[in-house]
Amino acid sequence: MSFFRRCIDEMQAYEPGEQPFPGDRVIKLNTNENPYPPSPKAIEAMKGLDGESLRRYPDPLSTNAREAAARIYGVPVEYIMAANGSDEILAYIARACLEPGRKIAYPVPTYLLYPVLGRMQDCDCIEAPYYEDLGIPVTELIEAKGAVTIICSPNNPDGNTASLKDLQSLAENLSGLLVVDEAYCDFAADNAMALVKRFSNVIILRTLSKGYSLAGLRLGFGIAHPDVLKGILKVKDSYNVSAMAIRIGAAALLDRDYLKETVAKVIKAREGLAADLAALRFKVWPSQSNFLFVRPPDGNAEYVFKSLRKRRILVRHFNKPKIKDKLRISVGTPDEMSALISTLKDILK
Ligand SMILES: *Cc1c(COP(=O)(O)O)cnc(C)c1O
Repeated sequence: MSFFRRCIDEMQAYEPGEQPFPGDRVIKLNTNENPYPPSPKAIEAMKGLDGESLRRYPDPLSTNAREAAARIYGVPVEYIMAANGSDEILAYIARACLEPGRKIAYPVPTYLLYPVLGRMQDCDCIEAPYYEDLGIPVTELIEAKGAVTIICSPNNPDGNTASLKDLQSLAENLSGLLVVDEAYCDFAADNAMALVKRFSNVIILRTLSKGYSLAGLRLGFGIAHPDVLKGILKVKDSYNVSAMAIRIGAAALLDRDYLKETVAKVIKAREGLAADLAALRFKVWPSQSNFLFVRPPDGNAEYVFKSLRKRRILVRHFNKPKIKDKLRISVGTPDEMSALISTLKDILK
């Protein structure tokens, strides 16, 4: 007999991108971290942390961080819950909403964590392919009747943003929860926050891992009508956010100018990289995030991935049908981008 539930034995674990040890000299463009340091105010807050606040358990409701988020996101604090990264909010949604006989639905390709969440709960995962023009397959998703439907916007791995009209029509027609994963919205022109005030079945996910350069801190938020949060909070671990994350996260959120400054630099580098790759005859998908989804001229993505890796540049290659001829490249500093381009020229020569 196995130690594990059958669905656990049968499922495949989520495979995170490679994380080299600190100090390893690589150009790391494989997990969409922000290339710039966190806000100096966040670092200051970190240094101000005293032993007493580590001795005690943290505030179970992460009030200080949620109050900062409420100010920045423009919603009442009762609409916000905090977690150890937005991945943890996703896990709580799965825990609270999914069981055998219920379904999770999402358009593909997208974040490879979603099927893992469904399988973990022994649920059917309904995968509706995005339309050719990257439009959301709204009808198919409504017909899928998911207890949970997830839209990642901007989408990982292609950087495309969902139209507000499509999201609205999903919210109106789904009887289950509509989750909008906005991990990358700090780099986008638009976001779906307005929907949570109009629809009580919408939950928006935000994180400090990308725009705020705090992937190592682990802080994310779920934003939804308090009735929805009430259900999800029942399955939350009591002290899920550390005292450190609450304190540092609040300081980072409130430094609006710093966010604006780093995001502007990333967007400028993104547009430069898109032009340089297009000049090397890569197909480049338009991106509203801090990464680009690209197809090398001959579709030999695995070869390019391995050749870059040998030269100590990490990008992401997904060995999955339909996307294995493409690469996802995080946007780095201007220096990292010119190193990437000159290495690519060499590889493709
Ligand atoms: C990076 C990412 C997250 C964020 O995860 P955290 O747990 O907040 O670090 C969530 N969703 C998607 C699609 C991502 O790419």
